[in-house]
Amino acid sequence: MADLTTSPLQSPSETMQHPGAIFIQLHTFCNAKCINCPHPFTYGQKGMHPKGIMEEKVWNKIVQDIKSMEYRNQIGLYLQQEPLLDSTIFKKIKQINEETQAFVVVSTNGSLLDEKMRKNLIESSLQTVHININSADKEQYEKMTGLVFERTINNVKSFVNEAADKIHIEINCPVLPEVDTDKLIRLFPNIKVTTVQIKILT
Ligand code: SF4
Repeated sequence: MADLTTSPLQSPSETMQHPGAIFIQLHTFCNAKCINCPHPFTYGQKGMHPKGIMEEKVWNKIVQDIKSMEYRNQIGLYLQQEPLLDSTIFKKIKQINEETQAFVVVSTNGSLLDEKMRKNLIESSLQTVHININSADKEQYEKMTGLVFERTINNVKSFVNEAADKIHIEINCPVLPEVDTDKLIRLFPNIKVTTVQIKILT
């Protein structure tokens, strides 16, 4: 899942030594078709790049490198894909927590956050989840993402209720100018909702 934010959590001395965030793409797949995302042209139907899943030996090498460099900042397990499509992600989050000094941030479109997924994600003890929702209007949302509005909103509301005191959650909204951002903010009254206006180039 693409995201527009970065970690604010490093001190100036840490910034000199390490990047504030390292992003690791565990696979190249997504269940959405967001009109603001280049995924169709990278790993989607019109994609130019090879599609696939990271091999375990590559993952373990990355973890060892993170550990040996004593990296203490953000590991973002996302980019141009939906991270919750990978059932190994929970084990990998725990591995980062247990074997390194880094912390994990995930950015998701939220549609897959069913009961089992919410439980696994909360138990993995990641630090932050960013959830990207493009509109509080069903028709707009479904046109912009190809996802089912009620499913996403119900799952995200349940996740916010169950995880709010355990995980830092932010709702990030890449919105078109015509989207009612106040309606979006009212939908999640207890969570920071950040809206960023986007323009689709034709
Ligand atoms: S969910 Fe994220 S990665 Fe997938 S199409 Fe939308 S913006 Fe792109």
